[in-house]
Amino acid sequence: MGSARTVVVTGGSKGIGRAVCLAFADAETVIYFNYGSDEKGAEETSKLAADAGGKAFGIKADVSDPDAVADFFKQILDATGKIDVLVNNAGITKDGLLVRMKPEDWNDVLSVNLTGAFLCTKIAAKAMMKKRYGRIIMISSVVGVMGNPGQANYVAAKAGLIGFTKAVAKELASRNITANAIAPGYVDTEMTAAMTEKAKEAMIAQIPLGRGGTPEDIAGAAAFLASEKADYITGQVIHVNGGLYM
Ligand code: NAP
Repeated sequence: MGSARTVVVTGGSKGIGRAVCLAFADAETVIYFNYGSDEKGAEETSKLAADAGGKAFGIKADVSDPDAVADFFKQILDATGKIDVLVNNAGITKDGLLVRMKPEDWNDVLSVNLTGAFLCTKIAAKAMMKKRYGRIIMISSVVGVMGNPGQANYVAAKAGLIGFTKAVAKELASRNITANAIAPGYVDTEMTAAMTEKAKEAMIAQIPLGRGGTPEDIAGAAAFLASEKADYITGQVIHVNGGLYM
């Protein structure tokens, strides 16, 4: 059990989660990330982290499955004995208009985006409480604050994450554990790849900074929240959206 910082990132096989892993990749940090099914993507994240002089281990584990989450964290705690930072990033969308939304599409999105964060945070919090230190970061979304037609399930999950963040922040503050949410605006990843070019252009037209976000834009905020510079920040929502929402 070394003294290296242990960082756990959910959904690290691509997109924002991969960028978050890479933002933490250095010689003093050991990163564990999970993913749903993209083994190749997970290997690529580990390779890129190694190229950057870090270590990132990918473990296939569905965040919505309590047994898989328990096993994921057991492997981490057996290896390192602690969790310094948890980034709840794994997320999915199953969009549709409310009147046509199937209950399973509601449940799937809530299970991964919100229940997944609960399951991971619960286990990580216990380990953090023992060490009297922890940094918990949720990846919410601007739509959790603004709303968005066609995403009732996703918006509910992302708004739920913000409330969850505040409850966790209040519950764990006395143990020197902070919890904050990042609310990204539009970011070009596989999740948003299904949008038409026209829809993307219309979205970018509403962003004061005139461009979509990159995964690195979001990862920078996560690295800041996990750093000493953010020691006195808890229960907050950090908006990283180019000014889309102010
Ligand atoms: P992405 O490219 O689709 O990546 C999602 C990641 O989550 C993948 O690594 C995926 O793993 C993993 N994942 C999905 N379901 C999982 C499960 N059940 N268990 C474990 N891992 C799972 O999405 P992204 O754009 O990077 O999004 C990352 C986070 O940012 C999400 O929470 C998303 O809601 C949020 N966000 C994104 C945007 C945006 O514009 N892109 C904006 C605001 C917020 P596999 O692919 O291996 O299954």
